[in-house]
Amino acid sequence: MREIAPGIAVVPTLIANAYLVGDRASWVLVDACTPGNENRIQRAAEHRFGRDSRPHAILLTHGHFDHAGAAGPLADVWGVPIYSHARELPYLTGQSHYPPFDLRSPGFFTRIAKFFPTSTVNLGTRVSALQPRQAIPGLPDWETIETPGHTPGHVAFFRRKDAVLVAGDAVTTMNLDSFWDTVARRKQVCRPPVPATSNWDGARRSVELLASLRPSLIAAGHGAPMRDAADELSRLARNFLSPE
Ligand SMILES: [Zn+2]
Ligand SMILES: [Zn+2]
Repeated sequence: MREIAPGIAVVPTLIANAYLVGDRASWVLVDACTPGNENRIQRAAEHRFGRDSRPHAILLTHGHFDHAGAAGPLADVWGVPIYSHARELPYLTGQSHYPPFDLRSPGFFTRIAKFFPTSTVNLGTRVSALQPRQAIPGLPDWETIETPGHTPGHVAFFRRKDAVLVAGDAVTTMNLDSFWDTVARRKQVCRPPVPATSNWDGARRSVELLASLRPSLIAAGHGAPMRDAADELSRLARNFLSPE
């Protein structure tokens, strides 16, 4: 766990990042990595906020299994609600499956995608709909940015006063298209993870929207958080390439 800006810390795991957002008085967990990471995330939260501290809620940028995996057990331990965009709820409540991964695409995720389920965790009644136009529960400084494309109800979170962006999988800060760039963890602003992105027109429009925010810090679901990458994000938006 490492603070990346005032009021935000990253909890990196092997596959994806979770973020602790807010202060001792009121904080939330954004994303929950793959199943089995609940103890790691809980320990990080205790380290940052104190032993008996509980978040206000768990927010999910989207429902993929590498972002929602430990949300259920953590919601039970903490006794808090989980929120995702309404369009993610069918996937998170066992009513629908994400489209199958595109295993012809290049890169790291394709190599490991065959080990991933396209069904995600079933959070049942623990998850409810985030209202994108209303204040975020427990995080008054932050707003929800609707960024569909990677998944139908993908959202990012943005703190306007210092332009900090929690991007989920709307962009990544490592090149998952290249197996060796991924292994080397070279920092780079890149398109969403290829095998799991369902709508590339939507994904491009969402990258354009995020570029227009000129973020000072990009905290994505995959890759180390990146400072001063607004120009690189704008370049990605201008030269956005959908896979063949
Ligand atoms: Zn995803
Ligand atoms: Zn992901």
